[in-house]
Amino acid sequence: ETYKEGMKKTRQSFTDKINDLMARYRQVDEEFFEELEEALIMSDVGVSTVMDLIDELKFEVKRRNIKETNEVKDVISEKLVEIYYHDDDETVEHINIQENELTVILVVGVNGVGKTTSIGKLAAQLKKEGKHVVLAAGDTFRAGAIEQLEEWGKRAEVEVIKQSAGSDPAAVIFDGIKAAKSRNADILICDTAGRLQNKVNLMNELAKIHRIIEREVPNAPHEVLLVLDATTGQNALSQAKTFSDATKVSGIVLTKLDGTAKGGIVLAIRNELNIPVKLVGFGEGINDLKKFDAHAFVYGLFA
Ligand code: GDP
Repeated sequence: ETYKEGMKKTRQSFTDKINDLMARYRQVDEEFFEELEEALIMSDVGVSTVMDLIDELKFEVKRRNIKETNEVKDVISEKLVEIYYHDDDETVEHINIQENELTVILVVGVNGVGKTTSIGKLAAQLKKEGKHVVLAAGDTFRAGAIEQLEEWGKRAEVEVIKQSAGSDPAAVIFDGIKAAKSRNADILICDTAGRLQNKVNLMNELAKIHRIIEREVPNAPHEVLLVLDATTGQNALSQAKTFSDATKVSGIVLTKLDGTAKGGIVLAIRNELNIPVKLVGFGEGINDLKKFDAHAFVYGLFA
């Protein structure tokens, strides 16, 4: 239901196009596939993903001897879910949380994508699940970032470890690890600065943060979550590429799905970058972050 509601705009644009196609083409033929290809590209599924999908569809249509376009719809859903999982099972969607030891989650992303909000929502969610969560205010660069994280800390009722603006983010995260350990916390979520203008700086800063985390906590960070704004469509894809060069991104938090018709970007990210989407944002409220579910997502596209 959340997916159905949250993906309303994507669904409207997507199903409208598909239904229109079904109405105009009763028989499956080359022209139908060409228009379908166009409709999928318009939904930001990504060109190469669409090519793969169309190839698979053509193969299935032939194999199952499908003649009418209305039968193709189910095959599309099926194939979209398959594209999502590749050869993996559903655990690719899960956040890697350690039992009985400190889990460190590093959160990266460009300013404005919804990084702080998502950290706040995630903290609240994990707290509700009974976890002891601590936040580290590692975005010491953007004006107001520390205060904003503190605001979310209050809302989620979790402690925020901070230093003054402009201080070394790696030092803040070091403090966060120390605090999380001394309080016997389950999860430390680390915010980071989101300036992409200078890729070398970004890489150096993230590398330094990584070194500190790896030194202080064995096998950490357990997750590096990249926050992307779904409304930016293909732009999100190029941000993902840049951050993947700078750090080993293990999962995507895709925000603002409620405000866009570009929900197909989920599939592009997974297929073209092979990074699973783990969380999705459907609004500004504390409960508007959901665990990603590929079945629900595809259902959200067509329901
Ligand atoms: P940051 O600069 O990346 O930390 O971004 P913020 O967390 O400050 O978020 C930027 C804006 O996006 C804020 O107004 C948030 O309320 C809004 N926002 C974040 N996530 C979502 C979402 O899932 N849906 C909607 N509609 N707005 C969101």
